[in-house]
Amino acid sequence: MNPVTRRIQVLPEHLATKIAAGEVIQRPESVAKELIENALDAGATTLIVVLREGGRTLIQIADDGMGMDEQDATASFLRHATSKIASYEDLQAIRTYGFRGEALASIAAVAKVVMTTKRAEDDTAVEVRIEGGGRPQVSRTARDRGTTVAVHNLFYNVPARRRFLKSPNTEFRHVYDVVLRAAISHPQLALEFHNDDEAVFQLGAVTLDQRLIDAFGERQFEGMLHVEETTENLRAHGYVSKPSFGQRSRSNQFLFLNGRPIVNRNINHAIYTSYEHLLSGGTFPFFLLFLEADPARVDVNVHPSKMEVKFEDEQAVYRVVSGMVRKALAGSGSVPSLTTFPGEAGLGLKFSPRQHAWPQDQSVVDIRTGEILPLFAPGEQPVRTPGSTPPAAGDTRPTFPHEGVRTEPESSSLLWQLHNRYILSQIKSGVMIVDQHVAHERILYERALDRMGRQEQNSQQLLFPNTQTLQAGDYALLEELHPEFERLGFDIRLFGRGALVVDGVPPDVRPGSESRIIEEILQLYKEYRKETPTEVRDNIAKSFACKSAIKSGDSLNEQEMRSLIDQLFATRMPYACPHGRPIVLRIPLEELDRRFGRR
Ligand code: ADP
Ligand code: MG
Repeated sequence: MNPVTRRIQVLPEHLATKIAAGEVIQRPESVAKELIENALDAGATTLIVVLREGGRTLIQIADDGMGMDEQDATASFLRHATSKIASYEDLQAIRTYGFRGEALASIAAVAKVVMTTKRAEDDTAVEVRIEGGGRPQVSRTARDRGTTVAVHNLFYNVPARRRFLKSPNTEFRHVYDVVLRAAISHPQLALEFHNDDEAVFQLGAVTLDQRLIDAFGERQFEGMLHVEETTENLRAHGYVSKPSFGQRSRSNQFLFLNGRPIVNRNINHAIYTSYEHLLSGGTFPFFLLFLEADPARVDVNVHPSKMEVKFEDEQAVYRVVSGMVRKALAGSGSVPSLTTFPGEAGLGLKFSPRQHAWPQDQSVVDIRTGEILPLFAPGEQPVRTPGSTPPAAGDTRPTFPHEGVRTEPESSSLLWQLHNRYILSQIKSGVMIVDQHVAHERILYERALDRMGRQEQNSQQLLFPNTQTLQAGDYALLEELHPEFERLGFDIRLFGRGALVVDGVPPDVRPGSESRIIEEILQLYKEYRKETPTEVRDNIAKSFACKSAIKSGDSLNEQEMRSLIDQLFATRMPYACPHGRPIVLRIPLEELDRRFGRR
């Protein structure tokens, strides 16, 4: 390359705008995206998108939104001219799709644009013509309320960019993706889409489900599971594919934040890992998630096309999405099953059916008694004993493991504790393994959240109030969290200088741990707070559950195991602990049969 020895000079305005336009406008797709956002921001209920040659010669978007008067119509083409934010504070909580005031200026700098627009209260419409960022030509015309922007010959004056445009077909497919996303995220919007003389789609205003059926077809829709979760700071809902409906590609993956299409690796990862081994190799989940968060807690101003966003608390979003998807998958009867044992290849644990001839009888030896037992239990889930009704959501009586467990063991019951850590149980389709600590954690976590969500205090008074001292930092934290601790069922008097008296504890606290539990919760709370600083109540519930739950290593009798399992399956999410770790694994009978060379 030749060294360039010219002096520094400020670029002329017309050149500078073309360069800036290149960031926002890369191809017809970006024009369509910006114009659709403007129409939505203007409150449109009907949208008509027309392309010629995939947008190379024309991208035209007509809406029935609020329209503009003459002054705004011309001002709209000025760089950094926007009606959507006025102050730095507005930028902190963006509630519209647009906010930079750049799109129309950028488009007009690199194309020939005709805009017609009319407000409901005006008699005539305004027409603004502008070419290559030149002076706008304004005239009067007639139309209904709304705005139409026609963008002709994109990049006609930037040949280097025009050459980079792909075939009409390819450009069309990119625009299609943008229009499809608008259709999905706005089912209430009537939407027509034409390319050349073909009507690509004509959609009426419908419900979300109907829109999805219109967009993806009945069969695909039947392969989806509904998901939904609401926490203090996030609402998420949508659909994910049933494991058996895995997709061959990643194209059917849609994320929206406050109606805006986004991409987010963190969330994709949360969804993928929730499927764990449920998807067969080479297939991907379909998903379509709508996230709603307080605009003040997300930053949409981190990326030129606003596709990437920054959540204030990425970890919390991860856990909400992961928990929600796991719950849906679990509810669909797809508990993680052990079909490949880790390390299997290395150990060479494979038998071919011919090596062994096993008896064909359908029974199993009870490992404790040597008794031969039938292989099939009555239900798929571990059998609930007749006397044991699952605790209702509002049930606050002291429960496992401190209460006298009233459940009678069923004579045919099959429950074993393995290494004081796992509970093994026979289910109809094979063997189920439950991690006792996380199972109890899940039970206590939900109970703690329920208690904190209710008004009445529910505390178990101690016979002998317990006097404690905490370090200054922990004491200050406890002062801050005191109301939440009270809701949880602690009855605490704070005396200053680290001194406190505990008069009562929640019913689930293990007897004997009253003097440690508060400090333990605070320590763990500080850990969780690093990950999810905003989920105060959730962090307390998790810390409490973890510290009060039975431990790995605690020996359980049969009644305790049964009570634990009954209560686990009465929770909202029996298959994953509050941190997303699995609680239940299943070894299908076929897998055992395969391993033992029966098939
Ligand atoms: P931004 O959307 O970031 O504000 P744009 O350049 O896309 O910037 O639009 C500039 C302004 O023009 C908008 O703030 C809005 O006031 C007005 N505008 C653009 N498109 C429309 C439309 N379809 N209907 C009504 N007003 C519009
Ligand atoms: Mg805009």
